[in-house]
Amino acid sequence: MNAEIIAIGSELLTPFRQDTNSLFLTAELNKLGVDVEYKTVVGDDRARLTTIARIALDRADVVIFMGGLGPTEDDLTREAVAAALHLQLKRDPDIVAGLYARFAARKIKMPENNLKQADVIMGAAALANQKGSAPGQYLEGSIDGRERIVILLPGPPVELKPMFNEEVLPRLKRKLPPAFIATRELRMALMPESECDAIAAPIYKAHKEVETTILAPVGEVQLHLKARGKSLQEAQEKVDALAEELEDELGDNVFSSRGESLEQIVGYFLDMRGSTVAVAESCTGGLLGQRLSSVSGSSRYFLGGAIVYSNDLKTSLSDVPPLMIKEHGAVSREVAIALAEGIRKKCKSTFGVAVTGIAGPTGGTPEKPVGLVYHAIADGKKTEVVKRNFPSDRDRVRWWASQQALDMIRRKLM
Ligand code: AMP
Ligand code: MG
Repeated sequence: MNAEIIAIGSELLTPFRQDTNSLFLTAELNKLGVDVEYKTVVGDDRARLTTIARIALDRADVVIFMGGLGPTEDDLTREAVAAALHLQLKRDPDIVAGLYARFAARKIKMPENNLKQADVIMGAAALANQKGSAPGQYLEGSIDGRERIVILLPGPPVELKPMFNEEVLPRLKRKLPPAFIATRELRMALMPESECDAIAAPIYKAHKEVETTILAPVGEVQLHLKARGKSLQEAQEKVDALAEELEDELGDNVFSSRGESLEQIVGYFLDMRGSTVAVAESCTGGLLGQRLSSVSGSSRYFLGGAIVYSNDLKTSLSDVPPLMIKEHGAVSREVAIALAEGIRKKCKSTFGVAVTGIAGPTGGTPEKPVGLVYHAIADGKKTEVVKRNFPSDRDRVRWWASQQALDMIRRKLM
C-alpha cells in the first residue's frame, strides 16, 4: 500500500509556515506498513486543488488531504475533492445540529457560512472533531476499478492528531492487512557523518532486508533501521542483528541504540551511579542546564549551576582567579578547568562541568577564532579538558558545545 499526503493552505507556500502535519502522518502510516510516496503542498485555489486531487487519486492507494475544512471562503477542500471524485456533497443534518449546538453553548449566533462544514462527500463517513468545529471525512471505495481510501482532515495539528488517532487509525487497521515492522535507531555524538558512514555502509549494505537511513542533525549522526517480517519477532530479529553488528564496529561512539537523546542517556548513567552534576556555562548561556533539566526526573542528579558570562561572575560564582583570566583569557584551558572545579566545589556535586568559548559571529581573533570552545569536567581527582574548533554559526557552535559537554559526562560514567 502507498499513500500521498496533500497539505492545503496558501500560508504553507509562504516563508512563515511549514507543513508539519505530514511528518506526524508519515510516521503513523509507516507503522501500518504504508509507504508515503508523494507529498504535495497546494494553496487555497479550487482549480489547482482539484487538479492535484485527480493526480493523487490516480497514483496512490491512500490519499490524505489536510487543511481547508473551515467555514471561510478559502476553505475549498470538500468541494475540490468531491469534484475530483465526481461525487456530490450532501449536507448532513446531524452535523448541522451539532454546529448550532456548539454556537448556542457559547451564546453566539452562528454565521451562515459555518453550514458548509456540514457538507459530506456522498458515501463518506464524517469524523468527529473533539477540538474544533470542522469534521473530517473518510471514504473507502473503488475508483476506476482500484480500491482507494480518501481521508480529509482539519489543518490545525491540535485537531488533526486526535482525529487521526481516534477516528482514522481504527478504520485503517480494519481495512489494511496487518504489517509487522520493527525499527531501531543508533545515535552517535560528535562523529562526522562521512566517518560514520564509511564504517557503517559496508555493514548495512550487506543487510538488504533492513532499510537503513542516515541522518545528521547538528553534532550527531543517526542510523535509522527498519525491517518488515511475517511476524513482529522476525522483523525485530532482522533489525537487532544489524544494530548489533553496527554497535560492534562503531564502539563507544554509539551513545544510544534505541533513539534516546544524549541528555536522556547522560541522565540514565548519572542516576544509575547515584552521581550529581553542576554546570558553569559561559558561551552556551544555560543551554547545557536546559538540556540536562529537560529530562523528567533530572532533579535526582542535576543540581544546577551558574551562567558565568562575565569575567566577574566567573570569579564570584565559580572561584576563577581574576589574574588567571587576565593572563590566559576567559576562553582558555586554564579557565575551563577552574570553572569546572569551582562550580563543583560551590555546588557540592560529584561532577562539575564547564563550557567557555567564542560562539561568534563577532569576537574572534587569529589566536582565538570563532568556534573555539573549551569544555571541562571535574570529579575531584582529575579534571579533563577538551578543546574543539566548531566551524559554524552561533546557534550551531552553542549546540555543539553542549553536545560535547554532555558526551564528556557520558564517557566519564561509561
Ligand atoms: P485550515 O484547516 O486550513 O483552516 O488550517 C488552519 C491552520 O492550521 C493554519 O493556519 C495552519 O496554521 C495550520 N495548518 C494547516 N495545515 C497545516 C500543516 N500541514 N501542518 C501544520 N499546520 C498546518
Ligand atoms: Mg486554510
